[in-house]
Amino acid sequence: MMRTPIIAGNWKMHKTASESVEFVRELAPRLSAYLGRIECVVCPTFVALGATALTLQGSGVKVGAQNTHWEEKGAFTSQIAPNMLAGLADYVIIGHSECRQYLGETDEMINKKAHALVKHALKPIIAVGESLAIRQAGDAMSFVGAQVVAALKDIPAEAMMSVVIAYEPIWAIGTGMNATSADAAQICTGIRGTVRGIYGDTVADAVRIQYGGSVKPDNMVEYMSQSDIDGALVGGAALKVDDFTKLIELAAEAKGL
Ligand code: PEP
Repeated sequence: MMRTPIIAGNWKMHKTASESVEFVRELAPRLSAYLGRIECVVCPTFVALGATALTLQGSGVKVGAQNTHWEEKGAFTSQIAPNMLAGLADYVIIGHSECRQYLGETDEMINKKAHALVKHALKPIIAVGESLAIRQAGDAMSFVGAQVVAALKDIPAEAMMSVVIAYEPIWAIGTGMNATSADAAQICTGIRGTVRGIYGDTVADAVRIQYGGSVKPDNMVEYMSQSDIDGALVGGAALKVDDFTKLIELAAEAKGL
């Protein structure tokens, strides 16, 4: 099963709107040679989303948002509805560990967000991952598997073709501490198995699973050489045009594309 690798840059709370526009103006032409083979996504902050999307129109580089609310409107001060993202973003990250940890997002909320995104034809990037304590207790796979099951509750098989799952061990995010490629691959294979258990072979073989956590040009090939790792969700190394471009180039090389 040929899956198009997907590399997404999660900019977190970095770059103003004008910095975002400047960045993608420089980035897009450098990625153009890879875009038929690798899907490239940048995820700016909400305030930069419109300007970034406009700048990237027609470039082939996709835009992602960093979160969504599940309701379409209402008294939810500070929140952004999925229908407001439609037309601006292709992808939306949900379940990022920083949102689970600092914003109190639960599996149930993440599932509601997944349903809301699917309804508005937005593609969820569902982030899952264990803490260091859970890993050390030997429970990483059961924990991550349960997060996947909860996030996908009642999501129909047809919608799964547009779902991406990002395995991001919390202890490896922004810490410079890397999961070995074997550890990462083992969990990504486990996630595919979890998806297989719910949806069967066709969906499991098609769903794309990213690895995330201190991915950099010097470890990219190792991760991308794993057959069950279909791309990366990248924080720090996505903030520089040279590094992000290099990641795309290395993904193409590692996947033989
Ligand atoms: C992330 O925020 O999703 C992430 C993986 O960050 P970093 O690459 O900086 O570890």
